[in-house]
Amino acid sequence: SKVRIYTLAKEVGVENHRMLEILDGLGVSYKSVSSTIEEDTVELIKQIVAEEGAQGAGSGAAAEASQASTSSASTSPANTSPAQPAADDVQAPTPGASAPAPTAAPAPEPRSSEMPAASSSAGAQGSPVSTPVKERQPGEVVQPSSMQPGNPQPGTPQPASDAPHRAPVVTIMGHVDHGKTSLLDYIRKTKVAAGEAGGITQHVGAFEAQTSKGRIVFIDTPGHEAFTTIRARGANVADIAIIVIAADDSLMPQTREAIAHAQAAKVPMIIAINKIDLAQADPDRVKTDLTQLNLVPEEYGGDLIVVPVSARSGEGVEDLLEYISLTAELEDLRADPKGEFSGVIIEGKVDKQAGVLATVMVQEGTLHIGDFLVVGEKYGKIKAMTDSAGGRIKSAGPSTPVQVLGFSEVPDSGEKVRSAKNEHAARELVEARASDRRDTENARVRSRLTLEEMMGPLGSVRTVNLILRADTQGSVEAIQGILARKESDDVKLNVMFAGIGSPSEADVLLASTAEATILCFSTTPAGGVKKMAEGKGVDIKSFRIIYELIDEVDRLIKGTTEPVF
Ligand code: GDP
Repeated sequence: SKVRIYTLAKEVGVENHRMLEILDGLGVSYKSVSSTIEEDTVELIKQIVAEEGAQGAGSGAAAEASQASTSSASTSPANTSPAQPAADDVQAPTPGASAPAPTAAPAPEPRSSEMPAASSSAGAQGSPVSTPVKERQPGEVVQPSSMQPGNPQPGTPQPASDAPHRAPVVTIMGHVDHGKTSLLDYIRKTKVAAGEAGGITQHVGAFEAQTSKGRIVFIDTPGHEAFTTIRARGANVADIAIIVIAADDSLMPQTREAIAHAQAAKVPMIIAINKIDLAQADPDRVKTDLTQLNLVPEEYGGDLIVVPVSARSGEGVEDLLEYISLTAELEDLRADPKGEFSGVIIEGKVDKQAGVLATVMVQEGTLHIGDFLVVGEKYGKIKAMTDSAGGRIKSAGPSTPVQVLGFSEVPDSGEKVRSAKNEHAARELVEARASDRRDTENARVRSRLTLEEMMGPLGSVRTVNLILRADTQGSVEAIQGILARKESDDVKLNVMFAGIGSPSEADVLLASTAEATILCFSTTPAGGVKKMAEGKGVDIKSFRIIYELIDEVDRLIKGTTEPVF
């Protein structure tokens, strides 16, 4: 569907964001725009675009027109009547029509939601993305489904929708040697303006790429460990995850891990199939392998964007950047530069000359030299700021990584940052936090878990999060098969990740963010991993007999696992 929006925008000659506005105005959720979008909808869009052109683009009339059509679309999900030839009764709403236009208010079409499914099965037979459905019956109508409003991503703060758009923050993950670093290097080399320091860009944990579609911020430390370390401290910094998969190697253990981590964070993924310059590259195999994880590329009828690239020759990288921008537009990322500041530490280090340097990703508001930054129960005053290209700056708005001088101790990556206008306010914030912490610690000691806390609110579905590790693929599948039968109406078993071999540190991080239990069959954690799990309060349980593992799952399901002291 995203690819279709992209090609459609090109076809009718508007920018992606305008296409989204038009679709929105028509009450079409982008998720329902199947790869085989109805011709009538395309006609309608072309009319709107043509009308806008006639009236002068960007005039208020265009905006009103799309608003009027929003209201008529919301009155009835159908825009055209089944009784009439579709294209004829499609009229772009008259500019200036202020009230919802009930003129074309036909009976709703009950089978609407089934149509995209039918279309996508056509897509699955290998028809190219841009092929419209030909088998439409005469008189059959455009059925933009307004019944699936785009869901905002849970867990992310939703700023007021009139806040300005902000640049997307992108992270690159994938298996070792699949080309994450090379891809980042290529983008940095070609898309980052040479900094003040004569093009020598120091590593500050993130960089800003300038593309034809605007700014994109890349997190410079590839890998899901870095991504989940930040999440483990409660912050979500990446808006989009690029999963790099080498075309000659396809899905590998860390590819699956990276996908599980992006899914756990509910961050939209784009697949970059890398190394397509190699003779032995087999991008089709990668796509087929992805479908086995229930990730269906758009050209197979799903909604996963898959972009073939070569970090060596640069082929496809421009497309990748465009898809990132498109995904960002679909996510409708916004932040208010005038709002209250909040940010996240990307990384911190000690420089022999400068002292403590920390890279802050501004998420909301604007950071100024002289502001006081509060991290945890510490604060410091910003003495100097540099952007990711090494230039000195005085202020930084949303989605800007800035290196800040002024902390007295190195903050940890993932820590949340707030600001205060003066030292007094900073100290008050720190003191309030210290007292909050003492209160919760005391409360924890005093109170026992209530039944509700243990079991979840009555009548609700409880989810047991699990990470599964086993010695062979056969055991992984066998255990998953048994677990699938254990689910009931009130308990959902969510296997966040299942893999071969002993649990990794990344598993522990994932488990700690999701309060998951790690179950191992015929494999045990290495000492370091075990220690880390203890430190984070993550349970790792190892079994040699499958039924003992299943018994443990039963206990987790019943919520009767005895707390271990
Ligand atoms: P990472 O471990 O995922 O960061 O992978 P690297 O970026 O270090 O790349 C691993 C190896 O693959 C290096 O030798 C790269 O030169 C090579 N490589 C990366 N991208 C490409 C590509 O697009 N084509 C070819 N032929 N080799 C690549």
